[in-house]
Amino acid sequence: MKNFTNYTVYDKKENLHDETKVARGALGHDPVTGSISFPIFQTSTYRHISIKENTNFNYSRIINPTREEFERTMAILDHGYRAFAVSSGMAATSLVLTMLKPKEHILISDDVYGGTVRACEEVLKYNKVEYNQVDFTNLEEVKKNVKPNTKMMFIETPTNPMMKVADIAEICKYAHSKGIVVVVDNTFLTSYYQKPLLLGADIVVYSATKYIAGHNDVLAGVVVVKTKEQAEYLNLQMAIYGACLGPMDSWLALRGLKTLAVRMDRHNENAKKIAEFLRNHPKVKKVYYVGFEDHPQYNITLKQSKGFGGMISFDLGDMDTVNKFLEKINLILFAESLGGVESLVTHPATRTHTEVSKEVREKLGITDTLLRLSVGIENVDDLIEDIRQALE
Ligand SMILES: *Cc1c(COP(=O)(O)O)cnc(C)c1O
Repeated sequence: MKNFTNYTVYDKKENLHDETKVARGALGHDPVTGSISFPIFQTSTYRHISIKENTNFNYSRIINPTREEFERTMAILDHGYRAFAVSSGMAATSLVLTMLKPKEHILISDDVYGGTVRACEEVLKYNKVEYNQVDFTNLEEVKKNVKPNTKMMFIETPTNPMMKVADIAEICKYAHSKGIVVVVDNTFLTSYYQKPLLLGADIVVYSATKYIAGHNDVLAGVVVVKTKEQAEYLNLQMAIYGACLGPMDSWLALRGLKTLAVRMDRHNENAKKIAEFLRNHPKVKKVYYVGFEDHPQYNITLKQSKGFGGMISFDLGDMDTVNKFLEKINLILFAESLGGVESLVTHPATRTHTEVSKEVREKLGITDTLLRLSVGIENVDDLIEDIRQALE
């Protein structure tokens, strides 16, 4: 599509593959100047032509071309009606949680992202919304926990850090029979590997801080919705709460997104080899990785995902080994977060899952000796050598 005049007409690229969609974006380049790199519209406001005429742009909290290019690209990838880019993954989750009214009930995954639990605990409780956590790998458990006032299910799959996989299509089929909206946090696999809306989900959220932007240099979140009604509701909430992603950060996310396909494939390839190495190492007690053929939900992963991603958790069994490992690990960096080109390792019990009580942690398998690895895109032999020496 050739359009050299304005920012409103864009190509949904329906006939193209995801690799092309990410590399080229929605408008792809600036339709006015032809600039190949989409411009950063670092402006808060826009000049009007007259009372009767405008450019479709009025104020950057409401609309900004750079943010819109990122949003449209995300919507195209997920086959959504519209996407909203916000200031962080938590802003995306919080925005979606505003859909719940007092006295309604939400079911969330039992090892969902800690911030999501905190939002349910603090904000929803204040708004008199009830919540329960349940193991979404067990549909019978899910059914048992559904109440007459259940309006939303919020799932993460694979989960963090236990790598449990929920059957999105099955859950959606059941939820929809009860009039329940299903939200999927798709941060771990991204739309390149898993498309929740095509599997039946109603809304997808992302911490774009992770794989979407992919370079550990920006915080961002995205909500993708399926219908016009959802989009109108969220558009209003965006205007009210003002959680919009700024132009510079939108551009960084958009620029990171261009290489999503090649990055994900490398993360995937590296993680497979590292998971195998860890599994065969005598000092490693247990490895959690969705790409193992004997992973309990391996067949579900094959059915709903195009790849396994770059996340691995492993249990070293004793604290002494954990302490030594974290002191000796060198190329892989001991830091929170995930999904960037740099490999990072973290200690969930003291870093990412401190909001979860020790009792619940142990029940879920998040022991004090569990480590979570976000495999980057470095040379895999270098990474394995680093792990090998740290375990010595
Ligand atoms: C990091 C993360 C979030 C929160 O995203 P922020 O960008 O840090 O606000 C939500 N869900 C998952 C699965 C995450 O990993």
